[in-house]
Amino acid sequence: MQKTYDICIIGGGIVGLATAYKLSLQKPDLKILLLEKEPQLAAHQTGHNSGVIHSGIYYKPGSYKALKCVEGRRALVAFAKLHHIAHDICGKIIVATDNSELNHLNKVFQHGQQNGVEDIEMISSETITEIEPHCKGISGIRVGCTGIIDYPAVTQTLANLVVSKTQNKINTGTAVTGLQFESDTYTIVCNSERFYAKHIINTSGLQADRTIKKTGQSSKAKIVGFRGDYYDLTPEAQHKVKHLIYPVPNPKFPFLGVHFTRMVHGGIECGPNAVFVFDREGYSKTAFRLKDTLDAFAFKGTWKFFAKHWKFGLDEYRGAFSKAYFLKRLQKLLPDLKSEDIVASRCGIRAMALGPEGEMLDDFHIEWGPHAMHVINSPSPAATACLAYGEEIAIQAISRFNIQ
Ligand SMILES: Cc1cc2nc3c(=O)[nH]c(=O)nc-3n(C[C@H](O)[C@H](O)[C@H](O)COP(=O)(O)OP(=O)(O)OC[C@H]3O[C@@H](n4cnc5c(N)ncnc54)[C@H](O)[C@@H]3O)c2cc1C
Repeated sequence: MQKTYDICIIGGGIVGLATAYKLSLQKPDLKILLLEKEPQLAAHQTGHNSGVIHSGIYYKPGSYKALKCVEGRRALVAFAKLHHIAHDICGKIIVATDNSELNHLNKVFQHGQQNGVEDIEMISSETITEIEPHCKGISGIRVGCTGIIDYPAVTQTLANLVVSKTQNKINTGTAVTGLQFESDTYTIVCNSERFYAKHIINTSGLQADRTIKKTGQSSKAKIVGFRGDYYDLTPEAQHKVKHLIYPVPNPKFPFLGVHFTRMVHGGIECGPNAVFVFDREGYSKTAFRLKDTLDAFAFKGTWKFFAKHWKFGLDEYRGAFSKAYFLKRLQKLLPDLKSEDIVASRCGIRAMALGPEGEMLDDFHIEWGPHAMHVINSPSPAATACLAYGEEIAIQAISRFNIQ
C-alpha cells in the first residue's frame, strides 16, 4: 500500500524545518515528509550565513521582513535558551564614517523605532570608540538586541523535534526531480524513489524557481545567486573587534555592506561582499555552471538589473579579486586594520529573486499552485525570522489547503 503524506516540504534549510515544526505544532496529527537533496540539512544558505540574529532595524516598517524579524528574533532567542543552542546577545554598532551617510543612518534609526526594536540608541563618535576602541566613526547606532547564533544547530534541533513525532519523516540525500499532480495527490519523483503527498511546500531556496517549474507552473521571478566572500581576522588581530561592527548600508541594495562579526564558536569574520555568480551552488570565486548561466541570461530581468546596477556589480567584482580593495572597505570602519590582519576564508551564496524589470524582490514572497505553496524569496533575515516566518507559512498553508 502506498503511504500518502499530508504535506511534503521540499528543501531542508532553516525555513523548511521551521515550517515543518510549526505545522506539526499547529496540527499534531499531520503526516509531514521533508526532502533534502544534500547529505545533510542546512547545506546551502543556512549553513553558509553570517550567524547573526538580526534586530529588525533595517527593514521598511510594515514589511514582512520587519514584522517577522522582530517577532522571530524574540522567538529564536527563547528557543535557543530552551534547547541550549549556542548563542550570545552581544549587541552591535552601525557606524557612519562620513557626512553623506548621516541621513540614512537617521532613517535606519527611525525604522528601528517604528519596527519596535528594543534597546537601540544613537551614539556619538566618542561612544563608538568606547564600545569598539579601534573603530572610528562620526555617529552611530548601538543595537543591544542583536546577537550571534549557530544556525545549523537551530536547524538540527527543529529536525529532531519534527521527527520526534513518529508519523513524520525527514530524508536527506533525496533530490526531488519531478512533481506530478493527479487524483488529488502529488507523486514526488526522486530518482529511483517515489513519495506521495496531498500538498507540497517548496522551500528550496536557491532552486525555488526550478522546483515550481517541476509542477508545470512558472514563477515571474528568477533566482540569481550573490556570493558573499569572507575574510577571517588572524588571532593576533582579533583584539581589534569586540562585538559586531556594521557600516551604514547602501539604501539601494538589500545587502548590509562588509562588516565585522564575532562568531558564536570563536573567531571574527569580515564580509560578506555581494558578487553575482555563474553557479548558484558553486562555492569558489571561479565557479561556473552552464545551466545556471544560461538560465540567468535568458531572463530579461537579469539584463535590466545589470543595466541599472553595473557600477555596483563591477565594484563587487573588484572586491572579490583584490584583497587590497576589500581591505580598503574594511578600513573605513577600522582604519588601523592591516593586510596581514586578514586571511581569505569561506563564502556563502544568497538567493535573490529578480522580477522581470530587473527589480530585486526585497521582501518574503510566496506563490501558489494547485495544492502547492512556493516560498520563492526568503532573503536575510529569514534565518533570524525562521520561527515567525515558519508559523506564517504554516498558517497560510493550513488555511489555503483547507486542512482540518
Ligand atoms: C552569505 C550569507 C549571509 C547571511 N547572513 C544572515 C544572517 O546573519 N542572519 C540571517 O538571519 N540571515 C542571513 N542570511 C540569510 C539566510 O541564511 C537565508 O535567508 C536562509 O538561510 C534561507 O533559508 P532557506 O531554508 O530558505 O534556504 P536554504 O538554507 O538554502 O535551504 C534550501 C534547501 O533546499 C534544498 N533543495 C534545493 N532543491 C532541492 C530539491 N530539488 N530537492 C530537495 N532539496 C532541495 C537545498 O539543498 C537547500 O538545503 C545570509 C545568507 C547568506 C547566503
